[in-house]
Amino acid sequence: MNDPASMAQAARARGYAYLGIADHSRSLSIARGLSIERLLQQRALIRELNEESEDFRLLAGIEVDILPDGSLDYPDEILAQMDIVIASIHTGFKQEQEKIMHRLESALANPHVHLLGHPSGRLLGRRSPYQVDLDRLLLVAARTGKALEINATGDRLDLGAEAARAAAELGVPLVINTDAHEAGHLQDMRYGVAVARRARLEPHQVLNTLDWEELQSRLARSRASGLTTKA
Ligand SMILES: [Zn+2]
Repeated sequence: MNDPASMAQAARARGYAYLGIADHSRSLSIARGLSIERLLQQRALIRELNEESEDFRLLAGIEVDILPDGSLDYPDEILAQMDIVIASIHTGFKQEQEKIMHRLESALANPHVHLLGHPSGRLLGRRSPYQVDLDRLLLVAARTGKALEINATGDRLDLGAEAARAAAELGVPLVINTDAHEAGHLQDMRYGVAVARRARLEPHQVLNTLDWEELQSRLARSRASGLTTKA
């Protein structure tokens, strides 16, 4: 696993203007999930790295686990401090559809969440998707203004092209994410881009094609509208 500084260096070498760092949250201790203390330390480190650099930015993010009861693995006041919050299911894959949907819908209703990670949970050739009702999920994403991930890892490709197309038709933004834990995996981006091309997505439908200022305002808008809806 590479540290944020070396990930930044590798992303910059690929011509990127920014990169989001989002490690796993605390309940995933087997995947070295971060305690609140370590998460906030990492956030401070990322702020320092950004101050040293003028033409490249890191986003201090988190991939927060959607727990089996639909709550998130950190309290809201911690999520609110992060630049980007990805919510994902990593446990309880065998739950019936209503439970899975309750979890996904609760996560998307949280105003601090920007994005749902690997929305179907499939691992190609190894694990079927959990019991997600995709049409319903897309409508919830559209209503709550949340983005969905195209996870570019070779054994995920999740969302796939057909689902990404359906999302875009409803105006749901996509984010192509390599899920890279080390610099070498940043090259998986091409697989995610291939999915997006097959889905006939235009660059403006993919949030991480935006320049830094536009991305910042889209992320802020997503949170602001969630907070207003909730109040
Ligand atoms: Zn994940």
